Amino acid sequence: MFQDSSTRVGHRCQRLMRAAALSLLLTTALSGVDRLAAQSLAKASKAASYVQVWPAAALKADPRADFIDRLMAKMTLEEKLGQLNLPSAGDFTTGQARNSDIAASIRAGKVGGLFNIKSVEKIRAVQQIAVQQSRLHIPLIFGMDVIHGYETVFPIPLGLSTSWDMDLIRQTAKAAAKEASADGICWTFSPMVDISRDPRWGRVSEGNGEDPYLGSQIAKAMVKGYQGDLSSDENILACVKHFALYGAVEAGRDYNTVDMSHLQMFNDYFAPYKAAVDAGVGSVMASFNLVDGVPASGNKWLLTDVLRKRWGFKGFVVSDYTGIPEMTAHGMGDYQKVNALALNAGLDMDMVGEGFLKTLARSLQEGKVTQAGIDEACRRILEAKYDLGLFKDPYKYCNADRAKTEVFTDANKAFARKVAGESMVLLKNDNKILPLKKTAKIALIGPLADAANQMSGTWSVAANNTGVLSLLEAMKRAVADSSQISYQPGANLTADSTLQNNATLFGKTLPRYTASPAALTQAALAAAKDADVIVAALGESAEFTGEASSRTDISIPDVQQDLLKALVATGKPVVLVLFNGRPLTLPWEAKNVTAILDSWFGGTMAAPAITDILFGAVNPSAKLTMTFPQNVGQIPLYYNHMNTGRPLPEHQWFQKFRSNYLDVSNQPVYPFGYGLSYTTFTYGKMRLSDTALKGNTTVNITVPVTNTGDRDGQEIVQLYIRDLVGSVARPVSQLKGFKKVFIPKGKTVDVDFTVSPEDLKFYNSSLQYDWEAGDFEIMTGPNSEDLQVQKVHWSK
Ligand code: BGC
Repeated sequence: MFQDSSTRVGHRCQRLMRAAALSLLLTTALSGVDRLAAQSLAKASKAASYVQVWPAAALKADPRADFIDRLMAKMTLEEKLGQLNLPSAGDFTTGQARNSDIAASIRAGKVGGLFNIKSVEKIRAVQQIAVQQSRLHIPLIFGMDVIHGYETVFPIPLGLSTSWDMDLIRQTAKAAAKEASADGICWTFSPMVDISRDPRWGRVSEGNGEDPYLGSQIAKAMVKGYQGDLSSDENILACVKHFALYGAVEAGRDYNTVDMSHLQMFNDYFAPYKAAVDAGVGSVMASFNLVDGVPASGNKWLLTDVLRKRWGFKGFVVSDYTGIPEMTAHGMGDYQKVNALALNAGLDMDMVGEGFLKTLARSLQEGKVTQAGIDEACRRILEAKYDLGLFKDPYKYCNADRAKTEVFTDANKAFARKVAGESMVLLKNDNKILPLKKTAKIALIGPLADAANQMSGTWSVAANNTGVLSLLEAMKRAVADSSQISYQPGANLTADSTLQNNATLFGKTLPRYTASPAALTQAALAAAKDADVIVAALGESAEFTGEASSRTDISIPDVQQDLLKALVATGKPVVLVLFNGRPLTLPWEAKNVTAILDSWFGGTMAAPAITDILFGAVNPSAKLTMTFPQNVGQIPLYYNHMNTGRPLPEHQWFQKFRSNYLDVSNQPVYPFGYGLSYTTFTYGKMRLSDTALKGNTTVNITVPVTNTGDRDGQEIVQLYIRDLVGSVARPVSQLKGFKKVFIPKGKTVDVDFTVSPEDLKFYNSSLQYDWEAGDFEIMTGPNSEDLQVQKVHWSK
């Protein structure tokens, strides 16, 4: 980890000189904070080298502790509190507050890090203020919401999760880290791993769906991808969020209350956060919601007893945006009190609230917090900076050459296209209408057909939109002759213009057509008149999901549905290309449309990737990671539910005095794990190595899967278990394994799994994690509903 300091000083000098040359340019080009920062660059080249101020203590037994001890011995209380302060730079604003005069605060040692500041020049300039002008020269950390890619955007996380490809997902995080780190960022507020069973909640787009097992694998893959080995300047610190249970907000309304049993927390919702901790995540973000009656930001049980003592987390905890002062609205006390509550709970860094800075000195005097508590939080922030290598080289992530050559590269875009192709789910394909012939006459209809600015989806704050294609543009390039495609928008995004405005924020606007819905439909029908096939590009806009974007009606919006009905009524085949950040209710569409491709928001290369699938260059393989309900009334609807005392017999709808509805069956439209391919797969009989098992042994499971279609393809084979008798009730099925396998046409592949007692474990009423002897079902199949079952007995 330690590098020869003379080489590093040499590199740093070169970088400082380059930066000084840049300063003139910057002083004229930048304003506000940036101007102040840029002026400081000129002084920088003359100032003392950082390393001379804080020599590395490489020979000590614990050099990090030794270094930080010596540093903290020099820090005033105010400087320690400064390390706990994380203002937003204001390049992007995601909440209610804005911060002013950040440069002066940095100079005074009152800032530990900054977030949402973009570009290596600006970041270097700001770092320069901290390192050259603050008393102790402590570098800042620079964070950003690098959620699904940086300038090169990958599919929204929910879409990415449908690839079920852990290596691919890890590589997207790695690529995002490489781009972000080349542009000055060393810390990302990702992965977001909140399990959710409620598609009304707009933030399901940022997560990985409903399953704790799959969610845990993805959490691990993302942490590994971002952090890798932190000694490299291509890797950045990850922040798992939102700890905890944010995905269970009541009624799917963002920032709402959560109330949950400990049993459910531990068995269903905690797993992905814990997986991230086990994978070595460096930071954790506390969620906005209540956990057992106390907001996460002030919840000692959650942040200390569970996270640190039970799980052994060693990094630092940051609040969410104004999460600490919001505890006042939760009813936890005034500003003074809630900040003490947060620190005492184990929260180390205050995002935007500025309360740690402004209140903790008084709380210390009053005995409401301890010096040890403040020191511990400060130490954790300094440890993260040390681990990132910022004390050795504060400009480790400020390499302007890298920023020029490693961001938004052709290679990254090509990779993004591949990833997007792996992350789109074919939900229906009657009469093998897809793939389309490149010579077909196509009517491309819909408000999302020519909407390049929507492709990056939500939380793509750093997206570079240069050259990003709309579906219309990509299809014109893909077909033999672009005049084969006739295009009409056919409808507005929504009938209600206010709703459209609210769902097209952050510059991702959509045109608002003034013609009547009937006139727009007529134009679309005219365009479709001579077509062989209609491709309908419908659904949500990018900001229809994401933060503060909950919906009570999760169907395709009104006027678009009317348009779709009119298109289907023509009798021509209709291929619905869906844009959506959440599961939608599609009962009518599933019955009446010829084919449905769920493209989510596929990122920079979404449109070319959709055409890859539409015209057959890519054979779809993705499968859903969240249930698609029939209607909102069924929510929460998820595959791993409890059986109840009055379950419905399988494949039945209504029986009096059973757990069901009068008006709709208990079935989803599309279940968890579901997705089609252009080929077909047939599952042979599953074989188990044994059915009477004892103790700590392993059962081998083999299922032959045959590609019975006429194309090579990939199949995601899934393994579930059911614990038939337990000291607490267990779900009807739980995912415990999956494999994505390539199977050439006509070939059979034996897909192997193992199950051991580790897979049978769950938290019992005393929150002990163990397995119980008894009968279990082992199930395999192509999705959570279509499963073959064998029973085993497992004794201790
Ligand atoms: C969101 C977080 C995000 C933070 C910083 C908050 O509003 O809940 O997910 O990381 O803002 O932008």
